[in-house]
Amino acid sequence: MASNGPLPLAPGAVIGILGGGQLGRMAAQAAAQMGYRSHVYCPTAHEPASQVTDLCTVAAYDDWAALSVFADHVDVVTFEFENVPAATAAHLAERVAVHPSPQVLAICQNRLREKGFCRSVGVPTTQYAPVRDRESLQAALANFPLPAVLKTTELGYDGKGQTTLMPGADPAEAWAAIAGDKGELEAILEAFVDFRLEISVIVARDATGHIESFVPVENRHKNHILDKTLAPADIPDAVAAQAKAIATTIAEKIDLTGMLGIEMFVTRDDQVLVNEMAPRPHNSGHWTMDACLVSQFEQFIRAVAGLPLGAPKRHSNAVMNNLVGADANHWLELLAEPGAKLHLYGKNQARPGRKMGHVNRLLPLDVKPTSLD
Ligand code: AMP
Repeated sequence: MASNGPLPLAPGAVIGILGGGQLGRMAAQAAAQMGYRSHVYCPTAHEPASQVTDLCTVAAYDDWAALSVFADHVDVVTFEFENVPAATAAHLAERVAVHPSPQVLAICQNRLREKGFCRSVGVPTTQYAPVRDRESLQAALANFPLPAVLKTTELGYDGKGQTTLMPGADPAEAWAAIAGDKGELEAILEAFVDFRLEISVIVARDATGHIESFVPVENRHKNHILDKTLAPADIPDAVAAQAKAIATTIAEKIDLTGMLGIEMFVTRDDQVLVNEMAPRPHNSGHWTMDACLVSQFEQFIRAVAGLPLGAPKRHSNAVMNNLVGADANHWLELLAEPGAKLHLYGKNQARPGRKMGHVNRLLPLDVKPTSLD
């Protein structure tokens, strides 16, 4: 039985992880390397995260009795999946330390709160307007630059729940594309950013307020799903410094204990605009597993366990390719490729669009990752 002890957690302590996906799996693996045990809580059995630990609760996120028992058996709770209901995080926080806090989770779960928070701390985002039905969309469009992107404020990921409006677009059609037959839904209209590239910064803040971030990386998407990450991003030093400064401001002002993956656009005139934030390790940080002494997963565990953060320095440049759906069928070729490091998530059905694994390829620090294009 865990002791719900104060931070820092000593080796042998139990880290509770909400969510059973690959981020939880790799976090649990990093925790195990540091001498901790992980207890995974997720609604279905045999998930990627529960495969790598012998402590697992299979129950719904609104099973209050199961959540209370879980809280009694772990020393700290974190999550690998940000769409856990706010009430679940609040229920747990009454019983055990939850990092990041339910307040951070609530901001990151909702695109309007996220952008409102950024603006409130002086962090730039694209122009946006809240909309809630076809009529308010029509009204917002009267005074809004096109093209624009209409998104649901919650539960959208990998391009789901969003549609682009070109000049002359029919608002009714755009509304139906994100809302189906729902007349009302909380949504956000965003000015389309004509970006030069998309980058992200993975930032961690420990229990004492110390902040470290990995170098900004470039992210390229295919079918709205991250396809590859190039580390570092090929951007001027001043732009990289601006991205890091934004990540530091957000981590501090949101009072983070844990990790955020912050996605940003770099515009053609080198402005950095925040697109969205995930309160956990991020797909665009997987390259750190092989190119840094301390991976994003170890850094995450250090932050939530109350340990000092590691140096997020890289010893190599890297290109990370996601293996989506049938890409993972090439596992044997990838294993045979010198210099390629394969990571698979233990999912047995390679459904289209499903993230099955990733492969990291390393390069010397003086070789640009774009050389592998
Ligand atoms: P998101 O779900 O917000 O991460 O959006 C998924 C992808 O859609 C992003 O990675 C961008 O490639 C694109 N996208 C989202 N919002 C915008 C925007 N306001 N302007 C241009 N592209 C966008």
